[in-house]
Amino acid sequence: MDCIREEIKALSAYAVPPADGLVKLDAMENPYVLPDELRVAIAHRLSVLEVNRYPESNPEKLKSLLRQTMGIDPATAIVLGNGSDELIQMLALSVAKPGAVILGVEPAFVMFRMIATFVGLRFVGVPLKTDFSLDGPALLSAIEAHQPALVFLAYPNNPTGNHFDSAVMETVIRATPGLVVIDEAYFPFSKQSFLPRLPAYPNLLVMRTVSKFGLAGVRLGFLSGRANVLEHIDKVRLPYNISMLDQAVALEVLAHSEVLREQALRILQQRAVLAKQLAAIAGVVVYPSDANFLLFRIAKASRIFDGLRHRGILVKDLSAAHPLLTDCLRVTVGTFEENQRFLDALKDTIE
Ligand SMILES: *Cc1c(COP(=O)(O)O)cnc(C)c1O
Repeated sequence: MDCIREEIKALSAYAVPPADGLVKLDAMENPYVLPDELRVAIAHRLSVLEVNRYPESNPEKLKSLLRQTMGIDPATAIVLGNGSDELIQMLALSVAKPGAVILGVEPAFVMFRMIATFVGLRFVGVPLKTDFSLDGPALLSAIEAHQPALVFLAYPNNPTGNHFDSAVMETVIRATPGLVVIDEAYFPFSKQSFLPRLPAYPNLLVMRTVSKFGLAGVRLGFLSGRANVLEHIDKVRLPYNISMLDQAVALEVLAHSEVLREQALRILQQRAVLAKQLAAIAGVVVYPSDANFLLFRIAKASRIFDGLRHRGILVKDLSAAHPLLTDCLRVTVGTFEENQRFLDALKDTIE
């Protein structure tokens, strides 16, 4: 088809592998289900919805509940997205002048680069150092050379799991002529945030999502920052971007966010147990993580990945994703039982 743009033809679609019957440890999902009382309350809420009507376009109640749950000042503006993926797209659309550049680091969340391509913008990816920290001088010279309209940094970073040095991030924010978005998708597992720095930087935005918190099936994320920036981003938002069903489930569950917080604590405990057991396996190098997954290196990683899948365990094979990730796999922290099945399968594969 000649009408399809060449850069779209050249893309490979974001791969979501089939996971039927597998222990799913590939997508940073919370492994715990909701308690029965909460499920009943959700069912009741859904039963009384008038789905013949459009959803609320600007759901103020949901926004204030999100602010409350996430410790955001009631006066701070937020824009809701159908997951943070949609917010990334709205941001990219808003800055998509001919020749504009989106900048990020690599390896990082692949949607930053993909969405730049979707909207016809160039993505400049500055490599991380071998310890996955920011290369400050390289970032600053790339910002100088490309004058990016938009910079994305995930904090902590996916797939490496680490927090970047916040002082280096602040030099990036100061040097960038455009907007800098700090993607805090893993905030439930992290004690650090750029939210307190919002007042200091007019070009800073903080993005969050409920996905890793335990509501990946509800597509809901938000962007927080200066009202005079967000009012423009909000114009790019499609009018009914958060479905009535998503809104209802989020309202019910976030009103009981202590349930998700308690699950996040259990995930953190299991992360410590898993990291220790994984690191004890000969030939495995586990990287420190501030998120709900562990990145690890192991010889012949792709063969190990296949061996794990053959034994019913799905992780993420990153070994061909970036030169810094050679022989790297990423495992999401599951329940204690899931993690043991993963470790058993791994040992069995190695033998
Ligand atoms: C998982 C992830 C997201 C995805 O967010 P959704 O709200 O589910 O679209 C965004 N950013 C990073 C860095 C992630 O790892």
